[in-house]
Amino acid sequence: MRFISGREMIAHAYENGYAIGAFSAHNAETIQAILWAADEEQAPIMIQVGQRVIHHIGLEAMKRMIEEFAREVTVPVCIHLDHSRQIEQTFKAIQLQFQSVMFDGSALPFAENAAITRKVVDVARALGIGTEGEIGKIGGTEDDITVAEEDAMLTTAEEAVRFVEATDVDYLAVSFGTAHGIYKKTPKLAFERLEEIREVVRRPIVMHGGSDVPDDQVRRAISLGVAKINVDTELRQAFTRGMLNVLESNPEEYHLAVSLGEGRNVMKQKVQEKIRLFGSSGKAKSFFG
Ligand SMILES: [Zn+2]
Repeated sequence: MRFISGREMIAHAYENGYAIGAFSAHNAETIQAILWAADEEQAPIMIQVGQRVIHHIGLEAMKRMIEEFAREVTVPVCIHLDHSRQIEQTFKAIQLQFQSVMFDGSALPFAENAAITRKVVDVARALGIGTEGEIGKIGGTEDDITVAEEDAMLTTAEEAVRFVEATDVDYLAVSFGTAHGIYKKTPKLAFERLEEIREVVRRPIVMHGGSDVPDDQVRRAISLGVAKINVDTELRQAFTRGMLNVLESNPEEYHLAVSLGEGRNVMKQKVQEKIRLFGSSGKAKSFFG
């Protein structure tokens, strides 16, 4: 295993027409499910530490746990801080040597979002750490923060380019029709908007709310410059389903290793499915040598 800067990892995906799966981890077993899936697929991966697990387990504890388990695998790994909304926390992650950080100032006025993101980029880049920024609000609920559907507006190409010029982020999260969580009806991504944005920003785009987007739309998004796809909800569903299968067949199965273990199995399969869909299977070798 080698830890790789998000900047290098995402640039490779962008230049070679595939996407890196950025999978959210919540405990030891979900970390293993992600790492083992990546190892089996020989895929470079990002493991995301989000706001909820930071409150629940802790930023540093998660980082250390991921590092420990990553020793067992042979693929490039990038540990990413997801949706940080406080600059102190973003800098803490930089200090802890995360390989990638996201400052999410999308709820702030443009100038403030751009100014803080720029500070994060300046420090992170000097240390070889990749940076993600967000412009435009992505709908749904993530980490307890809900963006109402009417608030989730498509990012315009004009604001995307202004944001990139002001911040120079390595990869940019924009709103083009995805939402966090499970979709009430099948999403229809705004590909024309995505194309307009790609034309002007000319750098990797991040797709949030990657769960539950139909495969053909995911492939099309990748062909239009999406090089990092965040997946969380579908993985949590898979993990929970695995645990429930055990507990429904035997409600007195009190060995957590059994129920959590089955959660891990089912989630690992889902991660592998996503890795294949994103085209990152077999790409690990490009980072070595
Ligand atoms: Zn997100």
